[in-house]
Amino acid sequence: MSEEDTMIPTPLPHIGGTLIWYYMICHRELWLMAHALNPDEDDPNIEYGRFLHERAYAREGNEVELENSKMDRVIERDGHIIVVEIKKSSSAIDSARTQLVHYLMELEERGISAQGELRFPEERRKEIVILDDAWRERLRNIKEEIVQITAEPKPPPAKRVSWCSRCGYVEFCWS
Ligand code: SF4
Repeated sequence: MSEEDTMIPTPLPHIGGTLIWYYMICHRELWLMAHALNPDEDDPNIEYGRFLHERAYAREGNEVELENSKMDRVIERDGHIIVVEIKKSSSAIDSARTQLVHYLMELEERGISAQGELRFPEERRKEIVILDDAWRERLRNIKEEIVQITAEPKPPPAKRVSWCSRCGYVEFCWS
């Protein structure tokens, strides 16, 4: 048996769903959040996001925490476990999908099979998200990149993205 056959992939440190989301939005924001440089807490977008998380669908229960991940809601419907992620808008829908799939994978690793449901209450819109092999592979690659980016001594340079106007670091990056 060759050395390659016996190689075991290096386990990655635990990465929470929020970092996955930031990775998808902006690598600089990912680095800043990972290093606990908190954005402006008075930013109205952050305030409204909190309100939405606290109030929307409150009757279905509260957040569920799993290591570094916070799931907005976990509900049971027709015998299936559903992880619900609530977003203010669908403008960053790919980030929201990736974050939700990450939660599904976290549960799968603990022997729990679940589906995802993305909700955009302001748009009266929902989307079902299913974890499949393509997502598993993509997430593994994303996590490896997150480890590399956050291990850098400095954040990546600021690069304008559509999210900047809604980002809590906008003053920090662009003033
Ligand atoms: S303001 Fe823009 S460049 Fe700066 S962290 Fe936020 S999204 Fe990234």
